Amino acid sequence: MVHENKFREELVATAAAIVAKGKGILAADESTGTIGKRFDPIGVQNNEDNRRAYRELLFTAGPDLGKYVGGCILYEETLFQKAANGKPFTDVLKENGVVIGIKVDKGVVPLSGTNGETTTQGLDDLAQRCQKYYDAGARFAKWRCVLKIGANEPSNLSMLENANVLARYASICQANGLVPIVEPEILMDGDHSLERAVEATSLVLAYVYKALADHKVFLEGTLLKPNMVTPGVDCKKTYSAAEIGHATVTALRRGVPPAVPGITFLSGGQSEENATLHLNAINQVPGPKPWALTFSYGRALQASTIKAWAGKTENVKAAQDVLLARAKANSEACQGIYKGDAAGAAGAGESLYVKSYVY
Ligand code: 13P
Repeated sequence: MVHENKFREELVATAAAIVAKGKGILAADESTGTIGKRFDPIGVQNNEDNRRAYRELLFTAGPDLGKYVGGCILYEETLFQKAANGKPFTDVLKENGVVIGIKVDKGVVPLSGTNGETTTQGLDDLAQRCQKYYDAGARFAKWRCVLKIGANEPSNLSMLENANVLARYASICQANGLVPIVEPEILMDGDHSLERAVEATSLVLAYVYKALADHKVFLEGTLLKPNMVTPGVDCKKTYSAAEIGHATVTALRRGVPPAVPGITFLSGGQSEENATLHLNAINQVPGPKPWALTFSYGRALQASTIKAWAGKTENVKAAQDVLLARAKANSEACQGIYKGDAAGAAGAGESLYVKSYVY
């Protein structure tokens, strides 16, 4: 039986708009707990008003935002909030040509029978939530699964379970008109080499695309959000950006079908500048790269912006300029034409790594 989906054309158009030339994704979908961790160092209280004010800063950064950013991922609370002038955030983003995305997973939980590995929950009421989000203007979704590299990890069980839950999520999203971003994040925790990271990423991707095929997910209407292939954060050896670019494209060539329109990397704790340099290097790798290769950064797009804001109204404009400069740098990097102009920005080189990161 041929699997039908009435949203096929729309899914293809949505995915294409998000990863159009020179565009990537602003991941602003920090859960209420996570945004609190961002506010703590700048002394801002984690309440709904402050969360709304900060997201307004991001979304009203100016019309240039839509030149660099094709999609923005929101947390559920934000999807229904309004700018100070009463305009719904969804309208603010749409007017700038930014497609609205929504985080739909309900977080990571331990996977019994493994050495500290996890799976991700949130399937039970997902179809109803997708319908509600679509009605509110969302056109794509994100679900994050987390894997790790260790002596015996990622285990067969965690790869099988996470691939299957990603495939179930993806098929439910597509049945309800949302482009699923499939995110199997392999953490950079550990002392493994770049070569070991290539091996693990290639294998995880093979599990993911087998499960997507089993679940009859329409690949042309999906996006992949993987880690870049980097050595473990405690690896003694250093590798050049070109080596990281080559390793990343090698793993993707082994594991991602050309039917997938775009690959939107997470930043995963890299500094803002490294995330940009590595994306640029990935796009400079010679040979076939049949997907858009772009960014879907949370920390690496927002870390300096949030610092520049520091919770003060008088800093909003300066913080928006910082965001636009970083977004422009990544827009260049996703075309392989970044010249390093944003390297000198305050905080750009700071590591954003957090052990066993929970989003
Ligand atoms: P980082 O870019 O901060 O890793 O986050 C992106 C994201 O959305 C992870 O799920």
